[in-house]
Amino acid sequence: MKIFVTREIPDAGIKMLKEKGYEVEVSSKDGVLTKEELISAVKGKNYDAVLCLLTDKIDDGIFEAAGPQCKIFANYAVGFDNIDLAAAKKRGIMITNTPGVLTETVAEHTFALMLAVAHRIPEGDKFTKAGKYAGWAPMLLLGSDVSKKTLGVVGLGRIGSRVAYHAVKGFEMKALYYDPKPNPDFEKEYGAKFVDLETLLKDSDFVSIHVPLLPETRHLIGEKELKMMKKTAYLINTSRGPIVDEPVLVKALQERWIAGAALDVFENEPKLAQGLAESDNVVLTPHIASATFETRSKMSEMAASNIIEALSGGIPPNLLK
Ligand code: NAD
Repeated sequence: MKIFVTREIPDAGIKMLKEKGYEVEVSSKDGVLTKEELISAVKGKNYDAVLCLLTDKIDDGIFEAAGPQCKIFANYAVGFDNIDLAAAKKRGIMITNTPGVLTETVAEHTFALMLAVAHRIPEGDKFTKAGKYAGWAPMLLLGSDVSKKTLGVVGLGRIGSRVAYHAVKGFEMKALYYDPKPNPDFEKEYGAKFVDLETLLKDSDFVSIHVPLLPETRHLIGEKELKMMKKTAYLINTSRGPIVDEPVLVKALQERWIAGAALDVFENEPKLAQGLAESDNVVLTPHIASATFETRSKMSEMAASNIIEALSGGIPPNLLK
């Protein structure tokens, strides 16, 4: 069996594939393969599986190039908006993702962003390192408390519910949530309240987005929604960039419709909307919410397990339908 991995990933999964006796080829390019590069990397090579990343746009042209012997594309991410699932289905190609193993890490990163923007950590860090700290001052870099405030979770799935858990249990926050699938058990256990999106936006001090990128979630947060938020509220996004209308968010930050934002994902990654990086009330991280050694290794193992199961004639545990 021959496997192609589109970029270097932690070794754990590669080892598993090699232990199975599979021939594994990892792209030697230090960067994302362009569509043309991806096509020429797989065309005529008779790979039985491809381990791909969220930065690879996998469409029917790629499936065509990979050839009919290629059984599975295992995505190294829980989100799979980079893959044309319908085209895969038509060709009988299996698509898998890596749910669950990154939940805790992404929830931690969400909280790190929330605390960073509310306590103005990056601003304070920059200020101190620049030698501007001239002594304690009562009005220096005043921020906002997080404890006992109201958190609005948009998308109470694996990650959203873990963020709500930390909020309620750790910070005694009140949790509101909006999700097409209400979760009464979670409501009972954590005192979370199911509300519509409008109520969530109007009543929350922190709004945290955890929905998948779908046609109906693209620009879920635009001008109307940002104007509904409190002027003192913060928007946190660790899901996918296009869920927020980024140029409008820049306007909202500059004109102080909201107090601030913290983002790990961007509408046109790796590009940032004009003015975003210049805003002092925004904290930005480069899509690293799942980037811990432990989690990235588990993702590597999970993607490998999916490939091994598919190539052994079974149904991969994380098969997407
Ligand atoms: P999940 O499927 O467990 O949860 C998603 C939730 O969103 C579900 O409960 C679903 O019902 C809900 N939802 C769907 N459409 C909605 C809508 N229109 N409005 C409100 N809720 C809606 O997924 P998860 O494992 O919690 O991951 C969530 C997303 O986070 C992923 O799809 C991925 O794009 C993103 N993510 C980002 C990173 C990162 O590195 N920044 C890491 C992991 C995941």
